Parts: sequence; structure tokens; C-alpha cells
Amino acid sequence: RAKDSGGNRYEIADPVSDARAIDRHSLTNHLPGALERGEFFLEYQPLIRMSDSRLTGAEALVRWRHPVHGLLGPDRFIPLAEHTGLIVPLGRWVLEQAVRQACDWCAHPLLGGRAADSEPIRVNVNLSPRQLHHPDLVQDTVAVLEWAGLTPASLCLEVTESALIGADEDELKPLRQLAEMGVDIALDDFGTGYSNLANLRRLPATTLKLDRSFTQGLQQHPADPVDVTFVGGIVSLAHALGLRVTVEGVETEAQAAQLRELGCDTAQGWYYARPAPAEEIVAHWATA
Ligand code: C2E
Ligand code: MG
Ligand code: MG
Ligand code: MG
Repeated sequence: RAKDSGGNRYEIADPVSDARAIDRHSLTNHLPGALERGEFFLEYQPLIRMSDSRLTGAEALVRWRHPVHGLLGPDRFIPLAEHTGLIVPLGRWVLEQAVRQACDWCAHPLLGGRAADSEPIRVNVNLSPRQLHHPDLVQDTVAVLEWAGLTPASLCLEVTESALIGADEDELKPLRQLAEMGVDIALDDFGTGYSNLANLRRLPATTLKLDRSFTQGLQQHPADPVDVTFVGGIVSLAHALGLRVTVEGVETEAQAAQLRELGCDTAQGWYYARPAPAEEIVAHWATA
């Protein structure tokens, strides 16, 4: 850059992009050992049934307690883990932790009791594209469920819609097998992937997770009529196809009311609860 501008000019450092470059480099270097060093941990964010505001489950969200950079969110390191392949052992670790947690919740006298009149408390786990295409996905998932003694119906695997774009029947087979066993399959960040709506029919999904961007459009008073029509349309389509609808990023009571009215089944967002350690979920929901 400095050379292009000619002469003996000094290179002017861009502190922000330099910090990012160093960061990226040091994150990539630290990543391989982080799992063994026990630097990852999970938080859980409640999923709430809109009809009666009860807890139906929680999504496991991974965090990295980095020795130098402090607490890092998944957006900082999941892409790197995906790129380097670490996502496969990391993803398996997340699945094991989350499934074990779901067992504890089901066995919890208060939570278990709450759920007894309907379905068990479910745990949602995110899968990245690389995990999705890993040949051991089905086998590993079954092994983890058996090891923990959890019923498949208590697990929901979240896959982004964009990870499935263009997938052929062979590539969908593992997910289909899991769905047939009773594992819930959710299409995460739905509505951001430019996928053909007709494509929905052939995906082995049981749930749509409507992306936060749609929820944001319902924040104003009155809500943007185009967003209302859009969300209402997606909900009708999903229900017609036998899919449940979960909404992400519900931050206000007004959004919650609007989304309930539009027929959304389940909600997740700061309005209900932020992601938190597993103990907090129990403390909050067992007494709620
Ligand atoms: P996601 O699966 O769509 O998860 C929802 C994200 O929205 C989470 O961010 C959550 O903290 C955030 N969120 C929840 N409610 C609200 C709200 O009301 N307002 C706002 N503004 N945000 C809200 P987080 O924890 O930073 O995770 C980001 C993404 O990282 C996740 O998006 C998921 O795609 C990925 N991720 C997280 N954990 C894992 C994992 O174990 N494996 C894989 N492969 N990906 C993961
Ligand atoms: Mg998710
Ligand atoms: Mg999501
Ligand atoms: Mg999202």
C-alpha cells in the first residue's frame, strides 16, 4: 500500500485491522490445544413455548475462555475451527456436554416434574457444515445419546439453512436418518439463506428457526406491515408443511406479543432470558 503511493512514505498502520490480523493468527495458534486445556464452556439459552410461556428446552452456545484474549463468543472462533477441522472434535464435545446436561434436567425433580405433563426438556445443539458432512455424524450422535441414556426426542440439532443449500439426497441422508430416529432437526437462521422455499419440502427438518432479522422488523409500534405479512406467511407455510416455528432474538414484550399472535410456536431471546450457565437455567425455571 505504502509503496503504491510512491516515495519514502511511512506505512501507516491501521490499528484495527492489525489487531484483527494478530488476533486471528494467535487464535488459530491457540485453537488446537484449547479443547484439551479445557478452555471451552457452554452457556444455555431458554426456549419458551409461546402459548403458555413455559420452558421447553435450551440451546447450547459455546464460549472460549482464552488465556490472553479473555472471553470469546462463537462468532470469533467457530469459523476458524470450521476452517482448521477442529470443529469436529469440538462439536462432539459440545454434543456430549449438552446431552449430559439434558439428562440432568430431565432427572431434576422440579424441572422434570414441570415437563411431565408435556414433553421432556429438550437441548438444542448447533451443527456446522463440516460436522454435517462428516461420515461419523449419525454413529457418533447415536453413541452419545446411548451413553447418556437420553431419548432422541430430547435432542434438537440446528443446521443453518445455507448449509443445506444445494445438498443432494445423499448428503441429506444422515440428517434424514437422525430425524427418523426421532431427533428434532431445526433450520437455523431461516430466511437469510436465499433458499428456494419449495426446497423446504425435501429437507428432513421438523422446525424452522426464523432469523433475528425478522424479529427486529417487529420492534416498531406499529410493526412494519411488510414484516408482519412476511412472518405470518412463513408461519402459515411452515405449519402447512408440518413444521414448528421458533423465533430468535425476541427482545421486547411487544415483539413477543406480535409473534405469538402470528402463530409462532416457540421463542428465544433476551426478553425471556440471556444465555447463562446451566445452573442458572435450573434456578430460574424450576421456581418460575
Ligand atoms: P445461533 O445458533 O443463531 O444462536 C443465536 C445467537 O443469538 C446466539 O449468539 C445468542 O446469544 C444470540 N441471541 C439470543 N437472543 C438474542 C436477542 O434477543 N438479541 C440478540 N441481539 N441476540 C440474541 P452467540 O452465542 O454469539 O452464537 C452465535 C452463533 O455461533 C450461533 O448462532 C451459532 O450459529 C454459532 N454457535 C454457537 N455455539 C455453537 C456450537 O456449539 N457449534 C457450532 N457449530 N456453532 C455454534
Ligand atoms: Mg442455533
Ligand atoms: Mg439461530
Ligand atoms: Mg441467528
